[in-house]
Amino acid sequence: MAYSPNSERYGTMKYNACGKSGLKLPAISLGLWHNFGGVDAYENGRALVRRAFDLGITHFDLANNYGPPPGSAEENFGKMLRDDFSAYRDEMVISTKAGFYMWPGPYGDRGSKKYLVSSLDQSLKRMGLDYVDIFYHHRPDADTPLEETMGALDLIVRQGKALYVGISNYNAEQAKAASAILKSLGTPCLIHQPRYSMFVRQPEERLFGVLEEEGIGSIAYSPLAKGMLTDRYLNGIPADSRAGGQSVFLKPEELTDEVMGKVRKLNEIALQRGQKLSQMAVAWVLRGGRVTSALIGASKVSQIDDAVQALAQSDFSKEELDRIDSILQS
Ligand code: NDP
Repeated sequence: MAYSPNSERYGTMKYNACGKSGLKLPAISLGLWHNFGGVDAYENGRALVRRAFDLGITHFDLANNYGPPPGSAEENFGKMLRDDFSAYRDEMVISTKAGFYMWPGPYGDRGSKKYLVSSLDQSLKRMGLDYVDIFYHHRPDADTPLEETMGALDLIVRQGKALYVGISNYNAEQAKAASAILKSLGTPCLIHQPRYSMFVRQPEERLFGVLEEEGIGSIAYSPLAKGMLTDRYLNGIPADSRAGGQSVFLKPEELTDEVMGKVRKLNEIALQRGQKLSQMAVAWVLRGGRVTSALIGASKVSQIDDAVQALAQSDFSKEELDRIDSILQS
């Protein structure tokens, strides 16, 4: 059936300024790493993107290699844009990335200008777009001078193929150096995409401080720790879950007794707050305003509803935060 977006879509979502830019991102963004590939059901992915947009999620995060097979998430998203969203492109912030292995030979991986420029050209073709809103270097590359990688990001903006640029998985020092180069080129770094959740707190040590000093926004990926910070695994490993499926990125071995012990205690706090653990996990990364947007993944429409409902109860008492800290440190 033809898609007609919810006319109330901007009613409840919060939009946060991304660093010192004029671009606002929704507090919740949707990533297409899992569940949107050629191996997945197109209609399910389509339903997820439709529901997200209906709830005010304007930002969709991709990468050249999302699938499987690599590239197929961009192809499927491109089809969704044509099928459902051609009239709404200007209401969407679409990002993609390059930095991991994409094609054979010396030019399909890492951080050279050769790789980044040609990879983005391929991504634009797959999605049927003239430009993306944000283009990221996906991971730092010690083999390429940072000046070259940042020069490629600057070039891409000047070519009109991306409006803004970002970096992902860079540590605090690398982010500071990248930001200085981009500033000197006149293309400021818009955003950093780190892994951040109750289970992965390294960005708190130095990275968030650097981003604040540099005026760079942040989008926290895997805020649910790939599904561990939810009620998904409280009673075993469901066959339709990430750990129960083919993904190599969440193996059943990661769900140790120690991890599950913490998950159960965190789940109790969430229930006492009157929300699901997944909702508390989303609210937790957004607490204090250091994170511009929580970048979730979803396999079911109800998971997107859950995440957006987290915003209805996003405040924490000091006592709740202390209890969470003591569980995480135990
Ligand atoms: P999450 O930590 O949000 O995990 C998402 C998974 O958790 C879902 O696919 C689902 O798995 C489960 N889940 C979600 N909501 C619920 C719920 N309410 N109840 C129970 N289970 C739930 O994020 P991802 O690891 O998927 O990463 C999100 C995005 O971040 C990616 O799509 C990508 O855009 C980006 N990313 C970026 C990286 C980078 O290097 N820059 C690396 C990794 C991710 P299930 O299948 O079990 O239902």
